[in-house]
Amino acid sequence: MTTRITLLGLGPMGRATAASLLRSGHPVTVWNRTAGRADDLVAAGAVLAPTPHAAVAASELIILSLTDYQAMYDILGPVVEGAPRPGALDGKVLVNLSSDTPDASREAAEWAAGHGASFITGGVMVPAPAVGGPGAYVFYSGPRAVFDAHEPTLRLIGEPRYLGSDQGLAQLYYQAHLDVFLTALSSLLHATALVTAAGVAAGDFLPGALDFVSGIPAMVGDGHDLARLLEGGEHPGDLSTARMMGATANHIVWTSEKAGIDTQLPRAVKAHYDQAVAAGRGTENWTVLYEMIRGGG
Ligand code: NDP
Repeated sequence: MTTRITLLGLGPMGRATAASLLRSGHPVTVWNRTAGRADDLVAAGAVLAPTPHAAVAASELIILSLTDYQAMYDILGPVVEGAPRPGALDGKVLVNLSSDTPDASREAAEWAAGHGASFITGGVMVPAPAVGGPGAYVFYSGPRAVFDAHEPTLRLIGEPRYLGSDQGLAQLYYQAHLDVFLTALSSLLHATALVTAAGVAAGDFLPGALDFVSGIPAMVGDGHDLARLLEGGEHPGDLSTARMMGATANHIVWTSEKAGIDTQLPRAVKAHYDQAVAAGRGTENWTVLYEMIRGGG
């Protein structure tokens, strides 16, 4: 069965999403603030709506792929705020795949309900070229029955991972994953700046650094092992103590300073170790930093 779908927002993610839905034979209507970004999709069979009103009217299922939630209000606000079609969102299902805060998702769900629409939050966990392909997955949260009704269509974007009815959950999971990802990416760039400042070519360093990162699971066990440790609130072990790791964090700050590169990132890391040592917990395993980060140190 084909489902009519409207897609609002044609950045790299929106375009990849629309292309994936079109490949599966669904009728797709698109709208974008910058209309020219729809050209390739129109050539592939999408209908470019002339206005957000027309785009919303075209389908029950409306997928949003925008920079943030404010962009949704900027687009849909004028659609619902009076002429020509009050009630334009009545009975619609909004699936917002844009990044924002969990509270923004909850507020948006209330806003949508106030206009007669259902709301599902989504967080796409792969970059645009991977959308719709093997390995793509998307976190969702919101009303289960609404999600279930559209699951087969949403599956075309990536494997749907439903987290629960609280609309903030998908955003929380998305952010927590990106917390790991963004920090890791920044640390990779900082470390590269550190070696290149000493005359080492980035290409001589980065392949080994990536191998090293992939060894982290060997140190922390699988996610369940680490979770048990953190939930237990105890941090035994003298192989990688907070004091030893903190000394290394300190050395990284010094070397960065000497190299004349930015020290904000290693200083932030060092601060947690310093805090653990100051709290008299330097002889515990490095995982004691969890208590500092949670504010219980
Ligand atoms: P972009 O920021 O490149 O594109 C965003 C879209 O939002 C564009 O279509 C843009 O329109 C539109 N937009 C922004 N502000 C407004 C506004 N005020 N009014 C109307 N339209 C607006 O984002 P991406 O396509 O890269 O990503 C979309 C979402 O997906 C983001 O929230 C991102 O965090 C998330 N994401 C991105 C990934 C990636 O690898 N890129 C991976 C996973 C998730 P216009 O074309 O006119 O500028």
